[in-house]
Parts: sequence; C-alpha cells; structure tokens
Amino acid sequence: SSSRSFSKWQLALAAQNFSGYESIQAQYKPEVPEYFNFAKDVVDSWAEAEKEGNRPTSPALWWVNDQGDQVKWSFVELSHVSKKAARVLSEQCGLQRGDRVIVILPRIPEWWLLNVACMRTGTVLIPGTTQLTAKDILHRVQTSKARCIITDQVLAPAVDTIASKCPSLEFKLIVSRNHREDWLNFSDLLKLAPAKHDCAVTKSCDPMAIYFTSGTTGTPKMTEHSHASHGLGLGVNGRYWLDLTPSDIIWNTSDTGWAKSAWSSVFAPWIQGACVFVHSMPRFEPTPVLEALSRFPITTFCSAPTAYRMLIHHSLSSYKFHSLKHCVSAGEPMNPEIMEQWKTKTGLDIYEGYGQTETVLVCGTFKGMKIKPGSMGKPSPAYDTQIIDENCNMLPPGKEGDIAIRIKPTRPFCLFTRYTDDPERTNSTVRGDFYITGDRGMQDEDGYFWFVGRADDVINSAGYRIGPFEVESALIEHPAVVESAVVSSPDSIRGEVVKAFVVLAPDYISRDPEALIKELQDHVKKVTAPYKYPRKVEFVPHLPKTISGKIRRNELRKAEWGKA
Ligand code: ATP
Ligand code: MG
Repeated sequence: SSSRSFSKWQLALAAQNFSGYESIQAQYKPEVPEYFNFAKDVVDSWAEAEKEGNRPTSPALWWVNDQGDQVKWSFVELSHVSKKAARVLSEQCGLQRGDRVIVILPRIPEWWLLNVACMRTGTVLIPGTTQLTAKDILHRVQTSKARCIITDQVLAPAVDTIASKCPSLEFKLIVSRNHREDWLNFSDLLKLAPAKHDCAVTKSCDPMAIYFTSGTTGTPKMTEHSHASHGLGLGVNGRYWLDLTPSDIIWNTSDTGWAKSAWSSVFAPWIQGACVFVHSMPRFEPTPVLEALSRFPITTFCSAPTAYRMLIHHSLSSYKFHSLKHCVSAGEPMNPEIMEQWKTKTGLDIYEGYGQTETVLVCGTFKGMKIKPGSMGKPSPAYDTQIIDENCNMLPPGKEGDIAIRIKPTRPFCLFTRYTDDPERTNSTVRGDFYITGDRGMQDEDGYFWFVGRADDVINSAGYRIGPFEVESALIEHPAVVESAVVSSPDSIRGEVVKAFVVLAPDYISRDPEALIKELQDHVKKVTAPYKYPRKVEFVPHLPKTISGKIRRNELRKAEWGKA
C-alpha cells in the first residue's frame, strides 16, 4: 500500500530479483498507464514509503562540495521542496503545461529540484551544460522557443547579451543569493512559496523533456522524450544495469547538461528508491573523484571511458573504496585494457552500457552476466534490437551491419518521440520497420553485441572494413599509449588507409618517433588482424573532444581529407 501510485508493473520491476539474462527477458512485461507523472507517481510514492518506515534512512539526494558543505534530502524533503519550486514556476512565472524551460546550472541541489518541479507543472525541461557560450544559449532559446530560462550568476550575463534576440523568452530566473536586475530570484521565491501543489495530470505520452545530443558528429539535436519514456523506461537501467536497491548510493559523474544525467542521476536511481550522490566538482579531476569514492559510502559508480582512462593513470592503488561494489561505463566504447587495469587495481569489473540520447539503454552487461571485454553486452529487454543490412534483412552472427531497433507495429514507449520541430530528421532515422541508431556493430553466436563504430567512422581500406574502436583498443594495450583516435586517411594506392592519432605516456615522449611508430605498428599487427594496423601514425598532445569528453573522430578525418 505504501507505494500505491506506482504502477503495479513498475513496482514489480523495482523489486525484481533476477538470475541471469534469460530471467530478465522473461520478467520484463511493460504496462504503460494512460497517465503518468514521475514526480507524483515515483517521488511522492517513495516519500510515502519513507513516512511509513518502508525505506532505509539514506537520503534521496546527497550533495557535497570541496569546502565540506553537504545537503541531504530525503524523498519527503525532495517532495516537499519540489512542490514549492513548482509553485514558483506556475505562479511567479505563470508557466503553463507544455511551456519549455531551459535550465543551465552546475551540479547544485536546485538542478534536481527543478527536474522534479518541471514534471509537477507539466512544463518541458531543457537542460544545458554550463560550458555553453552566449551563442550556444541563443541558438538553444531560439530553436526551442523557450519561455523561461533558469541559470546562475556566472551565466546570467551571457543570457542578458542575447535575451533581446529571443522573443519567446519571458522569464529569467536566477539561482543565487544576489539579486540581478530583470531577473526573478529563484532562491528568494522558493522560500516564500507554499508547499501545496496539485501535480499536473500528464499523459504518459506527453512531452516531458528535451535533451540535446552530445554533438559528436555535428550540431546537437533536440531530442524529445515523454513522461513514460524516462519515468518508466529507465527502470531497465536502474534495475538491470545499475543493479540499484533503496539502500544503494550511486554517483554518476556526468554533467547536468546531458541525457546521461537524466539516466543515472535522476530517473534510474529514483525509480529504484536509491540515493543519488553528487559532488559539485566543476570539471572531472582524478584526485577529488578518487577521494570521494573512498570517503563516502558510494556503492555504485557510473562514468565514461574517458574518465576511467584518466583514473587508471592516477595512483589508483593508494585508495581504498570501502563501499563500492558496482561500476558501469557508457557513452563511448570501453577498451578491454582499461577494464583489466581497473579490475587489477580495484578488484571490480566495469559493466558496459550502450545507448543514445534518443533511447534508454539499448545493450548492456547486466549484473550476473558473463562479461566479454570489448563487447557491449546483450540487448536490453526494452527493445527488439537487431543487426540489419540496407534492405532491413536481419544479419546472422559475425556479420557487421547497422544497429537498429524495431519500431513497427508499435514504437517502443521508451524511444524518443521526435527531434523537436524537425520531422525530416526524425524520419531520416527510420528504415522499414526499424529505427537506425547510426552505429555499426555485430552480434556473436552467444547473442552479445560488439560495437564497430559510428557509421561514418568505419574505415574502408583496400576492400577491408575496419572499425576504429578495435584498432584503438589494440593500441592502448601498449604502455606508450594513453589514448588514441583512429580515422581514415587518403592514400593514392589504397584509396584510404588507417591513421592513428596517439597521445603518448610521459615516459615515451622523448623516444625516437620513427622507431616508436614502427613498434606500435608491430604491436597492433600482433594483437589484432594485421591488415588493421595503422599505416600512418601521428603523435599529438591531446585529442579533439566534445564538452562531454567524447572523441571527435570526424574532426580529425575531415582535416585528413582536407589536406588531400
Ligand atoms: P551526436 O548525435 O550529436 O553526434 P552523440 O551521438 O555522441 O552526439 P549521445 O546521444 O550522447 O550523442 O551518444 C550516443 C552515442 O554514443 C551512440 O550512438 C554511440 O555512438 C556512442 N556510445 C554510447 N555508449 C556506447 C558504448 N557503450 N559503446 C560504444 N559506443 C557508445
Ligand atoms: Mg548521436
């Protein structure tokens, strides 16, 4: 009775035990109610459970910073304060259901508060990273036609420089102790607002949020999600991939601006009643991360391969993570070498997840499943995921093709609804009965999926198709290599050849480059099929990356071909 407004199915999912992949497939039977609102149906339900003594005493949100400040909110407090925040949005700002609200905040508790408050009011949240420039913000406000923007004192001046070019923008809210002309002060209004609020009655399929993609291949796309897609759909992430229960404490290091934060810092943990841990850190630095993992009773750690690569080059062995028991990685492929080193130094495996801003988890290694290093695990039960060719034929194991999700006769409820205001682009993702991810991969005899590369990143050299990830994973096994990016490069005889841009470990920088190139080429020939070795190698101090830390191979590739 404690969680009476949870849908029955969601409750069953949250409480499920599973033993291996087959049991997950057998148990997953989604039921999507006509009406659903995460604030009321999940957050308030856990608050009820807490009041009745049916949830452990760990907080729902546990925020810390470098100065030793802490904020801990139970679900009861989160429910209470987010109702006040909802009053601010609907009264002081007069926002209506469906209005779009851009929230650009660093990792501060108000960001979580506003996520819940937007859902309570039925307004559509559009999160953005604090690394956006005035020009980026202008683009986002104009394309989204947002009525309201919420940010802090750092970015408010940037907003003021562009606000006059944004006719849709009526309300500016600042989260700050200080007042600013023309801005409503969220912190003050929050204090005054009453804590009674009637949650908007939202349909499961109503728009809930718009997330911008990472922009690895071009301009970020506005990806629209419904109330159910994340509020119910990310249950798969929470239960099967993150393996969370109400006693767990999860720390996901990703920036508040990306869908990954919605996945692992909002929906997946709170569906499971788990505690979300947040460190205010402005950017990813190995030392504070390792210190926090050893100081706080964090049980579950979620980060990106680029972060794990930084951590293993740090004095990892001098830290002890007393509570940590489950580590996951997503966003880019995880090199087997990094998994092995993490395991050697921490005793823990890294469970991989593959997905997109457009989807919830698509493939993953789930707790209890055998890990095949270099593979992204098996398909999530949320989707019928297949490897297909250009005519939508499903390909047998061992054959490379497009990673695709079946969307006919029924579009899965957890897939994005559309790219906002861009029907052409939305349609371009559909081929026959499938949504095309844009990624290439293959399946093996055991049903595990292997990532080959983004469709545009796959190299076609003298009749061989070569995925950059496999070559990069071979290179990183050599002690000289910190990380690398492998792209195609023009060649007068072969058309295109494999070229590796390599960041060297400090000890190797002064080596004779010719000899080192030869050594790396021989190494790749030894650990993978020889035809994949990089015929060209260039040493670089760092690789071009997105704000979220993803390697931008297309930038390197374009430069290569531009030279030709
Ligand atoms: P954009 O679409 O703007 O170019 P993006 O595709 O990087 O940027 P996201 O939605 O954040 O934006 O990332 C999804 C993509 O990240 C996937 O399509 C895939 O290419 C890559 N990816 C995510 N997880 C994994 C993984 N575990 N293994 C391999 N690739 C992954
Ligand atoms: Mg993408």
